[in-house]
Amino acid sequence: MIKASQLQADTAVFSMTVGAGDYYLGKVSAGQTFRILDLEGNQAADTLFYSAANPSERYSATDTIREQGNVYLTAGSILRSNENRAMLEIVADTCGRHDTLGGACATESNTVRYDLEKRCMHACRDSWMLAIAEKPEYGLSKRDISHNINFFMNVPVTEAGGLSFADGISAPGKYVELKALMDIYVLISNCPQLNNPCNAYNPTPIQYLVWDDINEYV
Ligand SMILES: [Zn+2]
Repeated sequence: MIKASQLQADTAVFSMTVGAGDYYLGKVSAGQTFRILDLEGNQAADTLFYSAANPSERYSATDTIREQGNVYLTAGSILRSNENRAMLEIVADTCGRHDTLGGACATESNTVRYDLEKRCMHACRDSWMLAIAEKPEYGLSKRDISHNINFFMNVPVTEAGGLSFADGISAPGKYVELKALMDIYVLISNCPQLNNPCNAYNPTPIQYLVWDDINEYV
């Protein structure tokens, strides 16, 4: 569902550009809203969410899909934890559909899907591992790398029930916006993948912006 945001970039309390192949790890508080902006289009933002109070409670694709009865995520989707609690709500979305089935790219999957020589290529899982190693204060470890969301990525479910990586449906300036329903750690890998069309074979930067409780501005 396409739903535009009323929030203006100049009222954001935090904004940063995440380069192609880089990660972002940070905290948003309950009530804050953040936006992931696809600056140049057809990029994939492979994202994990954790409860800041207890990071062993984390985003669960299975709980989210079961409760909403839909495999795709868009405006109105409630993202649920492995304890089936509401973590975040997608409150705006100008792309229209996001994947949570395809998983993130890893050196192992690059090897299986593409070629043995792809093993040394940078993958999202590497970026997540780098994030948890460089920021130990978040208390995350390898076992916390679990279900993820691929914002802006187009992974249609085929009639036969399979998955296909299709050309992106995002475009320059499209965004998704989420409101935190609890204190959340956000871990984004801005996907470096070069072997499938999830980012048009050309990884590009994204922008990450945060607003305080929007009621302050109305
Ligand atoms: Zn990736």
